[in-house]
Amino acid sequence: MTKIGTPYKANSTKAMLLGSGELGREVAIELKRLGVEVVAVDRYANAPAMQVADRAHVISMLDADALEKVILDEKPDYIIPEVEAIATKKLLELEGAGFRVIPTAKAVNFTMNREGIRTLAAEKLGLKTSPYAFASDRREFEGAIKKIGMPCVVKPIMSSSGHGQSVVRSEEDMDRAWEYSQSGGRAGGGRVIVEGFVDFDYEITLLTVRHSGGTSFCAPIGHRQIDGDYRQSWQPYPMTEKALESARDCAKKITDALGGFGIFGVEMFVKGDDVLFSEVSPRPHDTGMVTMISQNLSQFALHARAILGIPIVKIENYGPSASRAVVVEGKSDMLEYSGLEKVLARPGTDMRIFGKPCVDGHRRVAVLLARASTIEEADAVTADMLGDFKVKLC
Ligand code: AMP
Repeated sequence: MTKIGTPYKANSTKAMLLGSGELGREVAIELKRLGVEVVAVDRYANAPAMQVADRAHVISMLDADALEKVILDEKPDYIIPEVEAIATKKLLELEGAGFRVIPTAKAVNFTMNREGIRTLAAEKLGLKTSPYAFASDRREFEGAIKKIGMPCVVKPIMSSSGHGQSVVRSEEDMDRAWEYSQSGGRAGGGRVIVEGFVDFDYEITLLTVRHSGGTSFCAPIGHRQIDGDYRQSWQPYPMTEKALESARDCAKKITDALGGFGIFGVEMFVKGDDVLFSEVSPRPHDTGMVTMISQNLSQFALHARAILGIPIVKIENYGPSASRAVVVEGKSDMLEYSGLEKVLARPGTDMRIFGKPCVDGHRRVAVLLARASTIEEADAVTADMLGDFKVKLC
């Protein structure tokens, strides 16, 4: 039976977010709505989720000792990773000592490394993927490209959001791709995956939630990435019955292999009726922000319920919806947003401003949401909203 205590009292139900960005913030809000005490952790102060949590701690989550200390001090009932840059081996150890990691420490440890997850998906579960090979140094890298053929995509095995990722189309691209992979990875250099370039018709995220009543799927989310980073998403994305069935089968297999309760973002490439597994993250997905307008229970609400052991009865889709990330570029530690009275003057719209304390380079600072009679129309509305939304780097 799910029991919720009283915040700040001996019986409080306490959740700790490891990573306090915009996704974590929505998880924090959903947990707060259910009476949970929320502790937000990240490597910088005033991160988005910290602004709504009960308490915050600033540590390097890659520092295993600092991570252990904050967990032992707070003794959370649930440890909820929101990012990949975490000393995940420490989570395995703490799980062994009785702490509850969402969805499981094994899943978190596995999915932070492209090699583990790709090998599991393709070799153990027999899921279709792009052809791939791994390389640890420049010589192996050339061998991997020869084996896979060009064009191919090179990614550090420890990376996300397109960091260190590039496409090799000819031999001239090889030096640049290798060097970029060695500077862009989370661990700073090291092993890479070389993947055959998939000429997909479209790519989707299938949000899959494992909960106490079984496994449920959200409607497929189509999305567009620029340099490996999400910019727009649409739901429900039209798929053939056959492709949708294969996508669900693939998502069920990979999430069952990872286990635990919570939401998973399963990314796939689709060509015709063919579905290729790309990757999976055991947490809310940035393309899934569209569910804040498209569903009765957003991916964040689903995650919160699943974590607390509450079964998901029905995921209702309200109709064609779109999301569009607002990405700014520059350097500033004070931002100002305006034009909201125009942005939100349209019916069926909503938005989130993340409240990020600073920008240095590219940064996603807000998301625009719309619902309309088709996904194309919803997308066009978010484009108009973007035109009216002003961000000033003070
Ligand atoms: P990832 O970080 O692996 O999700 O890659 C980010 C984005 O790069 C994907 O969403 C695709 O748009 C693109 N991409 C990644 N791998 C491939 C591939 N093998 N073929 C074509 N595009 C890819």
